[in-house]
Amino acid sequence: MTFDQTSNTLVIVIQTTFGAPDANESAEAGGTTDAHSVIGSRGPIIDFHVHLAPSLSADVLTDLGVTKTSRGHYAFDGRVVEMDELYRPDVLGQFLAGWGTDHGCVSVPPPFYRQHLSVAEAAAWVPALNEGVRRACAGDARLLPLAYLPLEHPGLAVATAREHLGTEEFAGWTAAAGGNSCALEHPELDELWALLAADGRPLLLHPGKSPDLRLNKYYLDNLLGNPVETSVAAAELVFGGVLARHPHLLVILAHCGGVLPAVASRWQQGQNTARPGVNIPSGTVTELLHRIYVDCLAHEPAAMDLAEEVFGQDRLVLGTDWPFPMGLSDPYHAMKNRSGAFINKVAVENAARLLAHVPIRTR
Ligand SMILES: [Zn+2]
Repeated sequence: MTFDQTSNTLVIVIQTTFGAPDANESAEAGGTTDAHSVIGSRGPIIDFHVHLAPSLSADVLTDLGVTKTSRGHYAFDGRVVEMDELYRPDVLGQFLAGWGTDHGCVSVPPPFYRQHLSVAEAAAWVPALNEGVRRACAGDARLLPLAYLPLEHPGLAVATAREHLGTEEFAGWTAAAGGNSCALEHPELDELWALLAADGRPLLLHPGKSPDLRLNKYYLDNLLGNPVETSVAAAELVFGGVLARHPHLLVILAHCGGVLPAVASRWQQGQNTARPGVNIPSGTVTELLHRIYVDCLAHEPAAMDLAEEVFGQDRLVLGTDWPFPMGLSDPYHAMKNRSGAFINKVAVENAARLLAHVPIRTR
């Protein structure tokens, strides 16, 4: 199909040009070239939100309290992480290739956070986890690993960050928003924010498990808990003064910012009317929210439109949450009826700004 520059249905054209129900077929057909021609850019297209299980060294499994099932899935903490695709970097590579995406930033999914571990246990688990995600990505230059930071143990999070500062092993960082994480404005985390701000690589805040036991039904811990946990973390960054104190800190919120776009104006009203405890050191809520990046993982275009209003067009990036059912099989799903220039900004230009300090390996 030929791309029509004057078409108002660009995404439909994109989908039929390089969207790929069969990723293998599309990759073989050279999807990347088509994707770039459609959005008119030669810069790398980056998906900031994809997941893999870590490839843990067999030598350390027992010490970490992990076993492996006959199907090769990890079992720990009384559960098995069963999703086959999490153990298949090759399938992730095919998904990215099928959409013409040049790189995916790979993080471990929440079951691997294990935020209940003691600091001594986490001090063994987190390095193995980060080495494991690096190993999982090692065979495909499309895959850019993110280092996990255990925010429930601030000292260990700082030590983990220091271990990887200045290295080229990771494209950025990831950590649990909410869940069992320490409040992000906690003084013990301030050193971490200073380190990450100076480092220049982005931090993907991805929801941890909601502590609200009322949500243990109807899948609500995901459907409602995840968007709330993300927004709790954002509130701590904004109202706790973290963003004001660290103007160069680069944060990406998963899932289009959770419920935050819907409550942003309420937060601003709280500052406008000097509600108790609302005392941001500098800037307005609205200004500070424009500092935060979010992925475009929305299930309706209107949801992403609202996120664009709250965070700004310059703060949107691609994120699919592959391979989870709550993610997007089409990275451009929320961008129906958007222009090629808009999609290029999201998929390429904003991504390039976030990864300005990351040497991208070429394929
Ligand atoms: Zn995710």
